[in-house]
Amino acid sequence: MSGTVIAFIIVFVLAVAFFVYSCYRRFGLVLKGRPDNRFNAIPRRFWNMLYYAFGQRRVVKKPFGINHFVLFWAFMILLVSNTEFLLNGLFPSLSFSNLPDGAYFTLALIFDIMSLLALLAVVLAVIRRLFFPPPYVEARSRDAFIILGLVAGLMIAFFGLNACEIAGGVDRAGAYMPVANLVAGWLPAGAAGLDTAANVLWWIHAVILLSFLNYLPYSKHMHVLTSIPNCFFKSLDKINTQGREEFKKGNTFGVGQVAQFPWKGLFDSYSCTECGRCSDNCPATFTGKSLQPRLVIHDIKMNLLETGKKDAKELPLIGGEGEGSVSEDVIWQCTTCGACMEVCPVFIEHVPRIVDMRRNLVEMKSKFPDELLTLFENMEQRSNPWGIAPAERTKWAADITVPSYEAGKTDYLFYVGCAGAFDARNRKTTLSLAKIFDKSGISWGTLGRDEMCCGDSVRRLGNEYVFDTMAQANVKMFKEKGVKKIITQCPHCFSTLKNDYKQYGVELEVVHHTELINQLIHDGKIKLNPAAELGNVVYHDSCYLGRYNGIFDAPREVISAATGQAPAEMARNRDKGFCCGAGGGRMWMEEKEGSLINVARVEEALKQNPDTVCVACPYCMTMFDDGLKDKEASEKVQVLDLAEIVAKALGD
Ligand code: SF4
Ligand code: SF4
Repeated sequence: MSGTVIAFIIVFVLAVAFFVYSCYRRFGLVLKGRPDNRFNAIPRRFWNMLYYAFGQRRVVKKPFGINHFVLFWAFMILLVSNTEFLLNGLFPSLSFSNLPDGAYFTLALIFDIMSLLALLAVVLAVIRRLFFPPPYVEARSRDAFIILGLVAGLMIAFFGLNACEIAGGVDRAGAYMPVANLVAGWLPAGAAGLDTAANVLWWIHAVILLSFLNYLPYSKHMHVLTSIPNCFFKSLDKINTQGREEFKKGNTFGVGQVAQFPWKGLFDSYSCTECGRCSDNCPATFTGKSLQPRLVIHDIKMNLLETGKKDAKELPLIGGEGEGSVSEDVIWQCTTCGACMEVCPVFIEHVPRIVDMRRNLVEMKSKFPDELLTLFENMEQRSNPWGIAPAERTKWAADITVPSYEAGKTDYLFYVGCAGAFDARNRKTTLSLAKIFDKSGISWGTLGRDEMCCGDSVRRLGNEYVFDTMAQANVKMFKEKGVKKIITQCPHCFSTLKNDYKQYGVELEVVHHTELINQLIHDGKIKLNPAAELGNVVYHDSCYLGRYNGIFDAPREVISAATGQAPAEMARNRDKGFCCGAGGGRMWMEEKEGSLINVARVEEALKQNPDTVCVACPYCMTMFDDGLKDKEASEKVQVLDLAEIVAKALGD
């Protein structure tokens, strides 16, 4: 065995041992998290991994993502070449050069081209960081440049080594390695010293490769190791609800220490690529608030790493200053709109983590913004956010006759919702819906004063105890009254009854009015005469209807049928829609930092010169009304619910 081989074996064993140790330390910390079963439905998970991680589906949605796609695949293919390189160093007789010419030359060509593509991708990434940086400073961090430098060094050493071997007549694949061959042409053929140069470059390549491997677990590029499995472990269902808590004596609630997150939440934090897509799409970040979902995930990682150190100093997860701690303001600024999760290329679950921390603040520490105290009391005592007497739930129907829901006789329960029942503006939507139902001849009825709030806001605000009580009472009532099919006008009621209540053992067929109306039009049960006076209509996607439940087409089809033309689209629409600012319980809170989210959305709508803004959510209605007043545009632009537009097109 030659001295070089012995030296390499020592270097290799030390490097691999240190890498295994680093991974053991890092991944050992993840196992401190709560159990979370992500090992079911293996074939589906495997497919997700192929589709999203290897297919880079979400990465390439951004133009510069193509560069990452190239780098990713070059990296994957060169993994084969680098594995052979390391094995050849340990066992010199193991080499691709022992393969028949055809196979060897093909591999040589592929590796040569891939190395060039990787090098070009690195150069582009450096140029981008230097001259067109993303709007956050870490994109230009030392860490980022070290990794890019290591990859570039690896490619340069690869070309240098092969060029020396081609020029020295050692490698017979020269003609099939265009780049290395080009470099070889610059070297003096057969010159003394080529051997030594090749040896030096071989060692440089080996050291960079092993250094790269060992640097990964300590850098932001840990995602190179974790993002592929993170796509495997991604939630199989759309994340449109939060997990149920068990209210037993001695239990703790929510997450106040990092190890109380489920292990997947901790693994997520290792998988963040720091691409910034989540923050770019976050309405809170956009309006200048402290919340940046990217930093929430980063802080969870820093907290975990810090807490995992021997003799670690106490680093609070919530409320501390600086890295590794999430401020309380940040936790309350989220509208739970889900835009961050929709764009994250590695399926990080931001919203459940934020709600986990809200739960801890509310349920363990009784710490929440003052304005929520009244809301929580109203919900608990009168089952509506305003604390209005339940008898007033039927006031909206003072001038009409509304059928009561009767088990076995009525098909649909019309779940009016608190906003639809109590809020003066939204009562008009409710009346429009009643008119549409009557015209269509469907069998519908309401619960009248027995209806209670679904509990959406309290759940998103982390008051899980109150939500749990409300959900149990509602489910009990639905079961007693034999309710199976529900129509809602509020996307928050819709999503909560449809998705959250499953956790309470009831499968309801819940339909949002946008879908039902669309169906009624298709079935010919209602006939519309396009109402021309609405002018240019722009449609706003409610997050809990669109992004959370995939209802994008139905409202657009209804607008087309009711106005004779497709709605105008704002720059951010459908799954990229921008929150109105009221979700996640934010409806009941002031925005104390930055500018107002609803005003930002109204400004976006005004760019389309609308005469009418069409919404399909009572919260969006309020936010747009307020935003248009703020922009002094409410004289020129009206806000109507989709149901109101349809009611107009129905005539009298
Ligand atoms: S859910 Fe919406 S508001 Fe909350 S962090 Fe994500 S993008 Fe921002
Ligand atoms: S959480 Fe996802 S979207 Fe946000 S920076 Fe990390 S990888 Fe990018």
